[in-house]
Amino acid sequence: MTAPIPTSKRKYDLNFARWVRDNVAGGDKMNMCMQCGTCSGSCPIGTEMEDGPRKLFMMIRAGMKEEVLSSNSMWECTSCYRCVVRCPRGVPVTYLMQGLAALAAKEGYAPKVENNYFSKFFWMSASKLGKTDERLVPTAYYFSFGFVEGIKRSLANLKIALNMFKAGRMHIGMPHKIRDTKGLQAILAKAREIEDRS
Ligand code: SF4
Ligand code: SF4
Repeated sequence: MTAPIPTSKRKYDLNFARWVRDNVAGGDKMNMCMQCGTCSGSCPIGTEMEDGPRKLFMMIRAGMKEEVLSSNSMWECTSCYRCVVRCPRGVPVTYLMQGLAALAAKEGYAPKVENNYFSKFFWMSASKLGKTDERLVPTAYYFSFGFVEGIKRSLANLKIALNMFKAGRMHIGMPHKIRDTKGLQAILAKAREIEDRS
C-alpha cells in the first residue's frame, strides 16, 4: 500500500521529497539529478510548462509540495522520452513526470488544463471499450467545454474528420469495442488490486 502523502501545512515540507523518493516511480533515482538542465533544454514542450523537469525536481527537493502538485508541467509532458535519452545521470524523468501526474490527480491537485480533460475521455473509452474510439473521444472532449464550444471545435475539425472518413480511418455507427470487455474489466480490477497492495 502506498504511504499517505505528507499533510504538513508548512510551505516547504522536506518530508515531501522523501515521500516522492519512496512512492513515485523513478523517485529513488531523483537524487542522481545534478541540475544540469539538459532535460528541460531538450524538452520539445518545455516552453508550455510552468516548470521544466529540472526546476520541478529542485522544487521537490525544496519540499514545495503544493507548487509541484499543482504545476501544469506533468500534464504537458508527451512522454517522448527525449529527456531520458539525454540525461547524463540516468534519471528516469518521464516516469517521474507520469508518477507525479498520477499523484496530483489522486490528491485532487490536477490543474484544469485541456490535456487533463482529454486524458479523462481517452481513459473512459480505453477502459470501457478496450479501444479509443476516434469519434467518441473527441466528441466527448469537445463538448466537455460546453455546447457552443463543442459545436465550434467540431466544426473546426470537420475537414480532418471528412478526410478520415474518405481514407477509411473513421466509420459511421456504434463505437468500436473489443469482444471481451468483461475480461478487460477483470484485468483492470486485478491491476487496481495489485496497485493498492504495493
Ligand atoms: S538532465 Fe538529468 S541530471 Fe540534468 S537536470 Fe535533468 S534530470 Fe537532472
Ligand atoms: S518525456 Fe516529457 S519532460 Fe521529457 S522531454 Fe518529452 S515531453 Fe519533455
